[in-house]
Amino acid sequence: MNKNFRLSVTTPTHHKIKKLVKQAGHQCFYNLICLWAYTASNKPNGRLTNMDIKDIEFVSDWSGEPGTLVKILINLRFINFENKEYSIHNWLKYNPLPIWPTQGKRPCTKTWIKIKKRIFKRDNYKCQYCGQYVEKPECDHINPICNGGSNSPDNLTTSCSTCNRQKGTKALEDWLS
Ligand SMILES: [Zn+2]
Repeated sequence: MNKNFRLSVTTPTHHKIKKLVKQAGHQCFYNLICLWAYTASNKPNGRLTNMDIKDIEFVSDWSGEPGTLVKILINLRFINFENKEYSIHNWLKYNPLPIWPTQGKRPCTKTWIKIKKRIFKRDNYKCQYCGQYVEKPECDHINPICNGGSNSPDNLTTSCSTCNRQKGTKALEDWLS
């Protein structure tokens, strides 16, 4: 259960939002926000499991013609429909599941394995330092834990073992300089 969710600062000017507003009015942006807020609160993985069009439009506070909002949101790819299930497009990219432990220490092994999987997937299994595809990737703390670096996704990155060894516990700026 999330208390908040993340939006990019460019959301209002994003071309998909512009299209949405042009096609269906500013109201639809509000409906989308309602849907995102509901998702953050009730469907933290972004999958609208067991929800049909009616349910989605209800939580989106849609008062227009039934079916129209979902149709528009699918057309503009704000919603995906796969395997008979609706989901929010790219939800986990912006709103990772709230399992990220706080800074200064390593998470437990089980959690760490989960975290690493997500980071590798996000980075397409490419070392973010040298750009190479890595078969056995490692997960590096950009700002090292011993410097108070956190385990949040923006401080984690996929690395090959060579880059990871070279960087060691140096901060990124020190390693690159
Ligand atoms: Zn590398």
